[in-house]
Amino acid sequence: MSRFFSKKYAALEPYTPGEQPQDMQYVKLNTNESPFPPSEAALKYAAANTRQLNLYSDPVQEVLTKELAKTYGVGPDQIIVCNGSDETLNFAFMAFCDDGMPAAFADVTYGFYPVYAQQNRVPYVEVPLKEDFTMDVETLMGLRATLFIANPNSPTGVALPLSEIERLAAADPDRVVIVDEAYVDFGAESAVGLVNRYDNLLVIQTFSKSRSLAGGRLGYAIGQKELIGDLNTLKFSTNPYNVNSLTAAVGIGVLRDPEYMKKNCEIIKSNREYLVAKLDELGFRTLPSSANFVFTTRPGTDGAELYRALKEKGVLVRNFSKPRIKDYERITIGTREQLDVLIEKLKEILN
Ligand code: PMP
Repeated sequence: MSRFFSKKYAALEPYTPGEQPQDMQYVKLNTNESPFPPSEAALKYAAANTRQLNLYSDPVQEVLTKELAKTYGVGPDQIIVCNGSDETLNFAFMAFCDDGMPAAFADVTYGFYPVYAQQNRVPYVEVPLKEDFTMDVETLMGLRATLFIANPNSPTGVALPLSEIERLAAADPDRVVIVDEAYVDFGAESAVGLVNRYDNLLVIQTFSKSRSLAGGRLGYAIGQKELIGDLNTLKFSTNPYNVNSLTAAVGIGVLRDPEYMKKNCEIIKSNREYLVAKLDELGFRTLPSSANFVFTTRPGTDGAELYRALKEKGVLVRNFSKPRIKDYERITIGTREQLDVLIEKLKEILN
C-alpha cells in the first residue's frame, strides 16, 4: 500500500477472482464460463453492426435495451445494461444500502457481496444457510435490510423456489430484494415475471454464463422504472459509457439467436446429470444443482488437496478456504469430453 492510499480503503480486502491461467491449457472447470463460443450468427451480426469505434458507445444503449425489453416483455425504461452483472451489483449496493439499511446475504454465497459492502462502506449481515445449504427464508423474512439473493446460489447451485422470492418481496415493501440470477437459465425459476407486481424487487442477470459472453462483460438489471432510474443516476455519475460498442453489438446478436442459447443450456443440463452420476459412483456427495456447476464433497477427502492434485493433472476446479465449505469443490459443467477427462483424473487420484 502506498502512503497515499485513502484511509477509506485501507482495510479493504479485494475479491479474488477464479484463476485465469495463461501458462498452459487446463481443462478449465473453475469459473462457470460456458464451454461453447458465442453463436456464429451473433458474431456475424456484431461484425456488420458495431458502432464506429471512433465514436463513444451509446450511453443509453438504446438498441440493446429495446432488444432485452422485447425478450423479457417489459418496458425499455425497466432495464439498465452494465459492464458485467458485477457492475450492476455494485450499483445496487451503492443505491439501496446505507447506515440505516444494511445489506443482507447468505454466509455461503457469491464472494463479491461482502467486498461490495465494504467498498461502499455499508454494514452487512451474513445469514447462515441451513445445514443442507438451503436458504434460511424465515430469518430473512423479518430482516430490515436490502436482501441480496443469488438464485440459484453460488457456489452451492441450490435454487430457491419463486414462491419464496415472492414471499420475501411481499413481506416488507420498504426493503429492496435483489435476486442475482446469473445462473437462472440452467434450471431455476426467474423472478422477472414478478417485477411489475413488486416495486421493491430487482432482478440482475448476465450474458456471461448461458449466453457464452463472459469476456464481453455484459450484465443487466430488470425492475420497475424508479429502481432502474436510481441505478442510472449512479451509472451516469460513474461511467456513462460502461458498455462498449463491440460488446453491445455482440449482445444484440446473441439476443437475436435465442435457439443457440437454449440448445446449449439443454446440453449443460444433460452433462450435469452425467457428471453427478459419475461422482456418485466415486463416493462424492453432490448438492442438487440448478446451475452450470455442481458443489461436491467426498467424505474423508481433503478438499484443498484434491483441488491441488487435479490442478497438477491439468484440471482446474474451484475450492474455497472458508471453513464451512473447505472440503467441497465447485466444478463447472463443461463439454462431455472435458468431464470425461475430469472423471479419469479423479479416478487416478483416488486410487
Ligand atoms: N453473480 C454471481 C452469483 C456470480 O457467480 C457471478 C460470476 N462470477 C456474477 C454475479 C458476475 O458475473 P458477470 O460480472 O460476469 O456478469
